[in-house]
Amino acid sequence: GVRVRIAPSPTGMFHVGNARSLLYNWVLAKQSGGTLVLRIEDTDAERSKPEWVQGILDAMAWLGCGPEEYEGPLFQSAYVQHHRDAIDKLLTAGQAYYCDCVREQVVARTGSEHKGYDGFCRDRGLTAEPGRAVRFRTPDEGQTVVRDLVRGEPTFANNTIEDFVIARGDGSPVFLLANVVDDMVMGITHVIRAEEHLPNTPKQQLLWQALGHEPPVWAHAPILVNEKRQKLSKRRDRVALEDFRDEGYLAETMRNYLMLLGWAPSGNREILPWEDLVAEFRLEDVNPSPAFFDVKKLRAFNGDYIRAMSVEEFTAACRPWLYGEATPWRPEDYDEGVFALVAPLAQTRVSLLAEIVTMVDFLFLPEPPVDDAAWAKAMTGEAAVGLLTDVAAAFAGVAWTAESLKQTVEELGAARGLKLGKAQAPVRVAVTGRTIGLPLFESLEVLGRDRTLQRIQAAIA
Ligand code: GLU
Repeated sequence: GVRVRIAPSPTGMFHVGNARSLLYNWVLAKQSGGTLVLRIEDTDAERSKPEWVQGILDAMAWLGCGPEEYEGPLFQSAYVQHHRDAIDKLLTAGQAYYCDCVREQVVARTGSEHKGYDGFCRDRGLTAEPGRAVRFRTPDEGQTVVRDLVRGEPTFANNTIEDFVIARGDGSPVFLLANVVDDMVMGITHVIRAEEHLPNTPKQQLLWQALGHEPPVWAHAPILVNEKRQKLSKRRDRVALEDFRDEGYLAETMRNYLMLLGWAPSGNREILPWEDLVAEFRLEDVNPSPAFFDVKKLRAFNGDYIRAMSVEEFTAACRPWLYGEATPWRPEDYDEGVFALVAPLAQTRVSLLAEIVTMVDFLFLPEPPVDDAAWAKAMTGEAAVGLLTDVAAAFAGVAWTAESLKQTVEELGAARGLKLGKAQAPVRVAVTGRTIGLPLFESLEVLGRDRTLQRIQAAIA
């Protein structure tokens, strides 16, 4: 059966590129009744950290790919003996050799920084000694044809593939080899990963063959680029899945959007239920050209996903932002019943769950947050103070419904030659502290007469 894997290195945050590779592998496993293996490539002892391992597990679980979905986690560091055995096997077979060249010597001999290794030690018959690396002897003739489901048959002339290092001077296996041996030992049938690894692939395929195995089927998904068509980078771009989660992107949104970075369902559909994505995805239809990771579009997707939820689902999804340490209000001032009254209004207005906080904070803070710029804009001039004075007086006696509050402000505004939009601006800022937010009169209805009047009085005092 099909065995695929995701092989992240625990040297940083799980990023959107890792997540896209995960999804493609996971979906292929689901479609074929195959197995997804999670292998943590932790052999870089200096850069690997246990907290990054946890980050990988958490990010995957958040996407819906919890431990029941995969075999593992298996750790590359537990397979070092296999790596050593493979290196010995290649040495014994004469397909690898010891080398004591240092970089400067190679550059001096070839006259170039870029020519790669010149094969100097190939036939020197050096024996094992500390400080000597092991190089794989690549064929001098012929070509290596990679069978890639996304790219057809990328073909590499063997004389352009240098004799590359498979074990360092201290005996430690290098990534290229460890990655291949693990895939072999773990019975991986399809290697689906990002295009960044395509240049490694002919070397890895030669290793598979030298070790006596049929190579896997390869598939290299396109690189991800930003709006300037630059390859996404951890340093420049926002790429950590965790950051998207913390801003209030839904896992469903991420799953859907990331699947489309290289692939499109038929028709003009973009937003699809997970089941349909799983059913319709075809690795063969993945487009090899760079995929634009469009955060604006992602955000719009998220808004659409939020709108498609039931109010109950929306409320549940907002919970992390409504409870807990980071809320600007005190826990005892939060009122679930009050939130329930405005939840449907908020649901149509947020694109990110985190936006819920500034939308409802005026309901749970003892005083409205003060946004100086908003205040200055809405409150300048006699007109605002005069209008608010009239509004306060009228609000004291009017029926407390959104409808009659609106009518009141409309009439008082008209008396001063103001359209509703202009007339309600100072009321909104006085009561909510902000220039934008939920529909004003519904908000006032929920906030109640006493608190509304208090805030208007405070604003004109
Ligand atoms: N550890 C490698 C990476 O994270 C794995 C590459 C592969 O999938 O083969 O890029």
